[in-house]
Amino acid sequence: MNLCRACSNNFRSVFAFDMHRTGGYGKALYNSKGKAIGHEKHTRRCFTTDEMLALGMLQDDKGTWRGPATPGSDRNFEDDEQEEDELEEEAIQR
Ligand SMILES: [Zn+2]
Repeated sequence: MNLCRACSNNFRSVFAFDMHRTGGYGKALYNSKGKAIGHEKHTRRCFTTDEMLALGMLQDDKGTWRGPATPGSDRNFEDDEQEEDELEEEAIQR
């Protein structure tokens, strides 16, 4: 679980957690000579429930958020593809 201290939501993966944060950290700004002239406004915040749903994020029955189910995301942790790998190894050995 990745509990957000700011909005008290739980996230199933770091991927989903990162997805619900937006805005800048207020990084330093430099002029053309490389001298620091100030910093950007700190706008880091959490998305609202509506904004997370708009991104395709899903909330399970325990209230834990997860990212959209896209190939290569945390969905793969649930799928057991071990059997397929073993079959491939067996084929090579023959
Ligand atoms: Zn949050």
